[in-house]
Amino acid sequence: MLLGLDIGGTKIEGVIVSPSTNNVVHRLRKPTVKNTYQGFFTSVRLVIDELLSRESIQSIGVGSPGSINRQTGLMQGANIVCLNGEDFLSDLKAAYPHVPIALTNDANCLAISEYETGAAKQASNSCLAVILGTGCGGGVIINGSIVDGQHGLGGEIGHNPLPYFSEHDDGASTQCYCGAWNCNELFLSGTGFERTWALKHSPLSAPDIFAKAHLGEQSCIQHIEHYCDQLARALGTIVNIIDPEVILLGGGMSNQDVLYPIIQAKLAPYTFGGKASTPIVKAMHGDSSGVLGAAYLPVMHGLTKLRRN
Ligand SMILES: [Zn+2]
Repeated sequence: MLLGLDIGGTKIEGVIVSPSTNNVVHRLRKPTVKNTYQGFFTSVRLVIDELLSRESIQSIGVGSPGSINRQTGLMQGANIVCLNGEDFLSDLKAAYPHVPIALTNDANCLAISEYETGAAKQASNSCLAVILGTGCGGGVIINGSIVDGQHGLGGEIGHNPLPYFSEHDDGASTQCYCGAWNCNELFLSGTGFERTWALKHSPLSAPDIFAKAHLGEQSCIQHIEHYCDQLARALGTIVNIIDPEVILLGGGMSNQDVLYPIIQAKLAPYTFGGKASTPIVKAMHGDSSGVLGAAYLPVMHGLTKLRRN
């Protein structure tokens, strides 16, 4: 049995997955304590301990905000601020010395869950997963392994600049919270989709823009077309580097089925030679991708072997 943990800003979700069926056999949610690292760590242990009391498990995988700096081993860039600067993975290993443990971020967990058991299951060795939610993140699998990278930056598509940026994308350059300008996230996240709409119209929520487009409202249709063009530009630059077998979309924006044929048609012209036909598909696991990807992470890292029936 595989134990997977998805640590979010408000809750910690833990599951036990049976690798023979890919089914979740236990699921547990507890609130995330964020005021001190000690309190946070205790809240993580509560979830793990309760799941350990229910099943015998072979590994623990953790999906966490932020990433591990390879040079220092310490957490960085987490929106649960008390986690930054802490050696979270070593502390977990010390608490559970007899179980293999691995940790990565939520976008990587999306890629892993879909590659192992979801919409990218048919891929033989590569995929790109992109989360289009409140923010924009990504995960890359090459040769069957997740690419964390030297600085934990593998797949951070959200903080590349939007390719071919022009005044049609934004009236002026906009600075991202990360310090850079015109990051993809400012345009491609659900928040970005609403932000760029509000530059030219009265504010609307993303679901309202899609609903009005469905009723034939031209300005909404044009906004969606423009968004798809921006996303195709961002994806095209990645295809030119890693040329994955499949591109998966997750997060709130990925639930809008109308996007897929438009993005698919726009992708090829933004790739070298203009002919790339990489399938762009919706992630299958929805909100469960975090815990499932985390559960399969130690398998992908070779820390544990699957005992499939
Ligand atoms: Zn940024």
